[in-house]
Amino acid sequence: MSTLQLWRTPAEVRAWTAAARARGQRLALVPTMGFLHDGHLALMREGAARADAVAVSVFVNPAQFGPREDLSRYPRDVEGDLAKCASVGVAGVYLPDVATVYPPGYQTSVDLEALTTGLDGASRPGHFRGVATVVTKLLALFRPEVALFGEKDYQQLQVITRLNEDLELGVDIVGLPTVREEDGLARSSRNVYLDVDERRRATALSRGLFAASARAAAGEADAATLTRLIRVELEAAGAREDYVAVVDARSLAPLTALTPGVPARALVAAFFGGTRLIDNVPLLLRAP
Ligand code: AMP
Repeated sequence: MSTLQLWRTPAEVRAWTAAARARGQRLALVPTMGFLHDGHLALMREGAARADAVAVSVFVNPAQFGPREDLSRYPRDVEGDLAKCASVGVAGVYLPDVATVYPPGYQTSVDLEALTTGLDGASRPGHFRGVATVVTKLLALFRPEVALFGEKDYQQLQVITRLNEDLELGVDIVGLPTVREEDGLARSSRNVYLDVDERRRATALSRGLFAASARAAAGEADAATLTRLIRVELEAAGAREDYVAVVDARSLAPLTALTPGVPARALVAAFFGGTRLIDNVPLLLRAP
């Protein structure tokens, strides 16, 4: 197995992508904020199945954190991340520092409209501007054939799919299902913030979502009924709800009722102690 490359600057990335293209390789990119877990590794493995070489970026992007969010304590483990990338055959890791991505004088950002007004966009002002900007920069730098993202961050996946179309970047944007712990909790770098009791209570998120998904599959169309199933679990677990929503799976517009054959999504954000977690599931109403 060839050794993992480490790139610190755009010039180093360009030297590698040019050489890889000259060898006729198709490239996959997996953007991350590091502290890698099985969810990230699933994206890398799928990248390897869809392309000849996989690149990973590890960048804790300050632009996507609000002033009262967890930027300064976001978990980091560069050595562990590099070992995990090597273990799944990644070709190289881009590890820029903040001043490389946003040098003095930097002033360009990417903003989306309706897709970012609700859900996490409402709770985290500026978050999706930060995400859209850094992902656009990474796609423009690597110009990968394929880029892989998790459905875990469902609104983010829709934002990236949209900006790729709107800006005609021509990347194959692939979304992969959420990788979960055995008890249903979605894998997340932020799960390390949870104490033992919060970790146990956090299963309420997936329990509520799975209940809603099962009820929709059994024929329940009413969005209020479905959101109530999720809220019951959050309340029983003593979680503080940020939002619970049933939306159209593409536009993310709120729905009052599901339509047979039309993909919908249930999304939730809630606090367990000081830790904000998100999760979501597909909703597909059984055809009558
Ligand atoms: P992050 O490092 O949290 O910014 O995530 C980097 C990428 O991994 C994003 O595309 C996430 O949606 C994806 N991801 C995070 N957690 C999971 C998970 N549990 N299952 C699948 N993908 C995930």
